[in-house]
Amino acid sequence: MEQVNSGTTLTQDFSIKVSDHMGGETLKHCYQCGTCVSSCPVAKLTSSFNPRELIKLALMGAEEEIISGESIWLCCSCYNCQERCPQKVEIADVFYALRNIALKKGYIPSVYSKFSTALFDEGRVVTISRFVENKRVTLGLPSLKEVGLDNLRKILQATGFVRLEEKEEE
Ligand code: SF4
Repeated sequence: MEQVNSGTTLTQDFSIKVSDHMGGETLKHCYQCGTCVSSCPVAKLTSSFNPRELIKLALMGAEEEIISGESIWLCCSCYNCQERCPQKVEIADVFYALRNIALKKGYIPSVYSKFSTALFDEGRVVTISRFVENKRVTLGLPSLKEVGLDNLRKILQATGFVRLEEKEEE
């Protein structure tokens, strides 16, 4: 690890780690033109998300800053940037790689761990409240179908799904 003046700790070879990760293969093609930022609907709404800057930080090796922050989770996967990048950087996929690296280190926004818990426990990423059930009745909608939880859990376990809040506590 190397400490730079800004206080950011740099991890040597982080860009190699990202490039070796599925989705991160094109990271090093970036030449920092900024086309992605001008195409990004999220960047238009918040200065907390700047794909060019995040790519730069990844290339520099600012691993801890990137994976412990919330910015990488703000990408909405619209793929505008990926369509327009002159270097064919698969930017949204790079963010998937960064998220997976973050997750393995236990960094996960609580909203995602709640989704995962709900999926495992109830078979839906959103818990259906009594209010929603009652509303469906008043609107004349049929009851929601039962989820085949046993089969779903078999699939989740066979495909390596982990309850994210458990990962978070490791
Ligand atoms: Fe880098 Fe592509 Fe974004 Fe340009 S558009 S800054 S090359 S990722």
